[in-house]
Amino acid sequence: MNHKQGDVVLPGEVLCTYEEFIPSDWTYVEDGYIKASIFGYLKVDDMNKEISIVADNAPEHIKVGDRIIGHVTEVKQYKALITVKKIVGNNRDIVAGYKGYIHISHATDDYVCSMHELFKIGDIIEAEVINKIGSEFIELTTADDDLGIIKAMCVFCRKFMKLAGDKLVCECEHSTTRKLSSNYGRILDENY
Ligand SMILES: [Zn+2]
Repeated sequence: MNHKQGDVVLPGEVLCTYEEFIPSDWTYVEDGYIKASIFGYLKVDDMNKEISIVADNAPEHIKVGDRIIGHVTEVKQYKALITVKKIVGNNRDIVAGYKGYIHISHATDDYVCSMHELFKIGDIIEAEVINKIGSEFIELTTADDDLGIIKAMCVFCRKFMKLAGDKLVCECEHSTTRKLSSNYGRILDENY
């Protein structure tokens, strides 16, 4: 290890090898090294062999099991890409730039051939974090009934669509189905 307790570290800086310590808050593993994911002060816990960063104005960070609100930025056959806006139940800002994806195997319990049947660009979703990849990338699931789209956008007129039975309808008369959350339309914050 080429650092000591209290050292100022920068995002991306190598702290030690993965064999030396267990990565904890604000660190991530890449190429066999533990690196800093935020500007802050190094904290070395020799007892528990843990290494972490203490940051003064640390934004909220995301853990496996957290539920997030995000929007769909890209849809491919087997994946939807998501930009994370907030952690559910937490009003603090999260790290800018958190991105995630949903793989088709974690999108729904129903059988589908393509993610295009489930999500469209601009949809607002609630999803659960199932994996963290690097410092700013997460894998998400929307398989549970109360996960999925909470606000859907019409592909023709870009307006948000209303729920009618198990279908979504738009005032332009377009109707469709997607992977909806059982909480569809019950979102409180109109900004999402
Ligand atoms: Zn429409």
